[in-house]
Amino acid sequence: MHEVMEGGCHCGALRYRLEGDLGDVAHCHCSICRRVSGGLVVTWVTVPRTAFSWLAGQPQRYVAPASCTRWFCGRCGAHVALQTTHSEASIDVTVATMDRPEQVRANRHIWTGSRLPWLHLDEQLPSEEREQL
Ligand SMILES: [Zn+2]
Ligand SMILES: [Zn+2]
Repeated sequence: MHEVMEGGCHCGALRYRLEGDLGDVAHCHCSICRRVSGGLVVTWVTVPRTAFSWLAGQPQRYVAPASCTRWFCGRCGAHVALQTTHSEASIDVTVATMDRPEQVRANRHIWTGSRLPWLHLDEQLPSEEREQL
């Protein structure tokens, strides 16, 4: 779907815009997402890097060795975006920080090898033990 969507962190310091075709939407169960976000699962929408722009604020950066760079708000701590080392042409954005998250539906689960056994969410969706690109 071709969309212009905006979002931001809790305190309002960071604002961003997504423009263009929203790609894959995945519930990620990996332990890095869990520990970085403090959430049980992080749902990511993937868009081309050129479709994403920061509108306000200066995001802080966390580089997880050998996997990805993650951007978050240095004031409220919200986890906003991620870029993996194996797909630098795209960026992943947290659906939870979008202004209208209810408009975006996940299409798969990834890294379900780390999925919490008692977490029941969108169980009809396909699951990938790691992540197929
Ligand atoms: Zn913030
Ligand atoms: Zn993850």
